[in-house]
Amino acid sequence: MHEVSLCSAIAKIAQQAAAGRTVELVRVDIGHLRQAVPDTLVHCWEMVVFGTPFEGARLEVREVAGVIECRNCQGRTELDEPIFRCGSCGSTAIDVVSGNELLVTSLEVSTDG
Ligand SMILES: [Zn+2]
Repeated sequence: MHEVSLCSAIAKIAQQAAAGRTVELVRVDIGHLRQAVPDTLVHCWEMVVFGTPFEGARLEVREVAGVIECRNCQGRTELDEPIFRCGSCGSTAIDVVSGNELLVTSLEVSTDG
């Protein structure tokens, strides 16, 4: 499942950032173009971290909208589907502004050890 591999990637990043501390909460930004369902991510997270030092740590997902900018008319289009076409002029010469994020934005670590 797609979300499982995303969660494994998140756990790996968070593990390095935690540097052995006990993590209570992991906050992530997930771009819409990654087509991950936040609820599914949270569910997969619990499975992925089961039996690891991250067991019990919560995952908080913030979804980042998928936005493209047209090179032809400079119009910006927010994408529901990963169809990379300008909403104004139909051009496919576009740049992705946001939506590919997979960022661990912050960790909350336990203060009592
Ligand atoms: Zn355009």
